[in-house]
Amino acid sequence: MTGAGGLPNKRWSLRGYDDEGNEAWVIRSIAHKLYRCPSCHGEIDIGTEHAVVQYVLRAGGTEHHHWHKQCSEELLIPGLRDAKRVPASESSRSKLEARGRKPPGRRRS
Ligand SMILES: [Zn+2]
Repeated sequence: MTGAGGLPNKRWSLRGYDDEGNEAWVIRSIAHKLYRCPSCHGEIDIGTEHAVVQYVLRAGGTEHHHWHKQCSEELLIPGLRDAKRVPASESSRSKLEARGRKPPGRRRS
């Protein structure tokens, strides 16, 4: 996908699939504590707008990582399959965790 267009932002998240078929939701967030970006290993300062990457695993369950927005745009989002924008309201932590408790065949897209 070329040009994520500054996504994610307050209104829109992105959802795609990684190489293993896990769902990857890329969600805008503000850092409430210090995080370390898994891509560049640099720190994400408190108060910084960044991207939370929440995986809903094929096998069930979820996991998430905090990325610099720029790192996610350059290194993560281009590698996702079928990345498309989804309303940010669909990507709340509670909704995704509930999604992770359902077998993949019963997840609605
Ligand atoms: Zn980074």
